[in-house]
Amino acid sequence: MLNGYGGTILRVDLSTGKITKEPTSPQMARDFVGGRGFGAYFLYKEVPQNADPLGPENKLIVSTGPFSGMLIPGGGKCDWTTKSPLTGGYASASMGGLFTAEMKYAGLDSIILEGISPKPVYLFIDDRKIELRDATPYWGKSAITVEKALKEKFGEEFQIAVIGPGGENTVAFAHINHDYGRQAGRGGVGAVMGVKKVKAIVLRGTGSVPVADPEGYRKAGMALYKACKDAEGLAEWTRYGTTVVTSWCDEVGALPTRNFSAGSFEGGKTLYGPVMRKEIVITDKGCFGCPCPCGKYSRMKRYGTYVEGPEYETIGLMGSNLGISDIQDVAQANLLADDLGIDTISAGNVIAWAMECYEKGIFTKKDTGGLDLRFGNVEATFKMIEMIARREGLGDLLAEGVKKAAAKVGEGTDHFAIHVKGMEQSGYATHNATAMLLAYMTADVGAHHNRAWAITYDLQVGRERVAPEKVARVIWLQHFRPMFDVLGACRLQWVELGIDRDLYVPALEALTGIHRSWADLELVGERVWNLTRMYWLREIEGFGRHWDLPAPRFYEDPPTSGATKGQITKFEDVQKLLDMYYEQRGWDSNGVPTAATLDKVGLTAVVA
Ligand code: SF4
Repeated sequence: MLNGYGGTILRVDLSTGKITKEPTSPQMARDFVGGRGFGAYFLYKEVPQNADPLGPENKLIVSTGPFSGMLIPGGGKCDWTTKSPLTGGYASASMGGLFTAEMKYAGLDSIILEGISPKPVYLFIDDRKIELRDATPYWGKSAITVEKALKEKFGEEFQIAVIGPGGENTVAFAHINHDYGRQAGRGGVGAVMGVKKVKAIVLRGTGSVPVADPEGYRKAGMALYKACKDAEGLAEWTRYGTTVVTSWCDEVGALPTRNFSAGSFEGGKTLYGPVMRKEIVITDKGCFGCPCPCGKYSRMKRYGTYVEGPEYETIGLMGSNLGISDIQDVAQANLLADDLGIDTISAGNVIAWAMECYEKGIFTKKDTGGLDLRFGNVEATFKMIEMIARREGLGDLLAEGVKKAAAKVGEGTDHFAIHVKGMEQSGYATHNATAMLLAYMTADVGAHHNRAWAITYDLQVGRERVAPEKVARVIWLQHFRPMFDVLGACRLQWVELGIDRDLYVPALEALTGIHRSWADLELVGERVWNLTRMYWLREIEGFGRHWDLPAPRFYEDPPTSGATKGQITKFEDVQKLLDMYYEQRGWDSNGVPTAATLDKVGLTAVVA
C-alpha cells in the first residue's frame, strides 16, 4: 500500500487490446513523486529513442499526483506526457477539471496508452471494470458533442477526456478536452491520442485513497483552505480569473499584439477583465476542490453560444494577437477551437503568422482559399480555425505549427515565426522583459509560461536588466512551480492568492507518511528538469544552445507603438542570459548537463 497514491499503473496496448495493471513503484514515487515526474520518467525509460511521435512506439501517459483528488485546494490536476508531434521533444500538458479525482479513486496513478488501435475506440473505466469500446459512432464529431453524448449515456458522475477533429487529423497542436472547457492544451497531446485512434477516456472511480495520518491530513487540508478563504486577493481573482492581468499586460507592453509585433493593443480596453465580466460572463466554474474558481462561463449573445472562457492566454493570442478587439468574437473563436480540438495558444500564433504573411504579400488569396486574411478579420479567423482542424487548404500547412510552416514557406518568414523549440509562444510579449524571455527560451516544452512566470519580476527589478539574480530567479521558478504539476494540484492558489507554500508540506507528509521540505521537493523539480533536458538531447540530433534562442522578433524588431515602443533585448544580452543560465544550472556552454550535475540530482543511473 502506497499512502497518498492510487497504487496502480494501467497499461493499455491499443494494438492488441491487452489491458494490464502493475503496482506503482515505491522507488519511482520517492524519486519522481507523481504527475509530471511520472510522465517524464516513463517517457524517458519506455519510449525508444527516435520513436515517431505519431507512430506506435510513442506513448501517451496521463498521471495523477499525491494531491490529486484530495482535500487540497485545486487538487484536480493531472499531467499528460508524450513525445511531441509539434516539437519532436518532450511534451507535458496539465489538465484541470474533475477527471483527475475520478482517476485517483479508480486507483490509478498513471494510464499509459501504447500502440495504435486498428479502429476508433474509447477507454471505459468504471473502477475495476476496464474495457476498450467501439468509438466509430463518435469519430469525426466535435469534442463537446461527444462529451455530452457520453455523459448522457453513462451519467454525470463519469468524467471524460475527449479529442475533437483536430486530434483525429493529427494537428500538431491538437489538445484533449474535458468538462466542456478544460484542456490538456499544449504540445500536441491530442494528436497522439488521435493517431492511436482513442476518441475518449471515460472514467469513474469510487474507491478510497490510503492516507498515512488522516487527522494530520484533515488539519493540514483545512489550514490550506482557510488560507485561501482569508486571502486578500480572493474576491478579485474569483471575479476575473486569469483575465485579471489583461489590462496590466496592455499597460506594460506585454500583451501580444498582431503577431507579437507590439505589446500594447489600441483596442485592448475592450478585452479587459471587467468588460468581459459585464458583457459575457454568466457564472464562475472551477476544478475539483477549488475554493477560488478562475473559470468563467460565458454567453455570446451575438452568436447564441456558450463557452468556458476565454481566459487570458486565449484573449491574448486569439484577440489582440490577431487584431481582434471584441470579446464576443474572441470567445466565439475560443469555442470553435475547443470544440474542434486545437490549442488556442498555438492556433492564435500560427494564424497571426499567416496574417502577417498575407499583409506582407507572401500569401495571396490564392493561398488562403479566397480569405482576406488581414489582422482583425473575424470571419477569416473562424474559417481558418476550422481549416486547421480539418487540414483543409492553407490549414493543412498551419496544422504543422509555425516553425515547420515557416520552414516550408521560406522567404524569411521564420523571422516572425514566434516559437521556441517549435512550440508557439504563449501570452507575453517579451521584447524587453529579460527574465520572462529567458523563461520562454529555456522552458522544457518550448515557449510556455507555466514553468516560470517571471514577467512581474521583470517589472519589479528592471525589465532590461541582465543579471545573475534574474537568472537564478528563473531557475528557482522552474524547479518550484512545476512541482505543482508533479504533486497534482493547481499552483494558482500560491501565485494569485499568495498562500504560504509551507502549508503544503504537512499536507504532503500526512498524506504519504514521508517528510519532505520544499528543499527536498525543489531537488525533485531539478531532477525532472534535467531528465527532460536529457530527453531533448537524446531525441534531437544536434540539439543544443541554438534550440534555446527566442524568435528574432524579440531582439531585432522593436515595437513601433505601445509601452515598449523602440525597445528590444540586444542579441548579445540574449547570449549572456544563456551563458549565465547554463553556468548556474551546471550545464556546459552548449546546454548539456555535466556528469557532476546528473550525479547531484540523482539521474546518473536513470539516463545510463
Ligand atoms: Fe482550476 Fe482555476 Fe481553481 Fe486552478 S484556480 S484549480 S485552474 S479553477
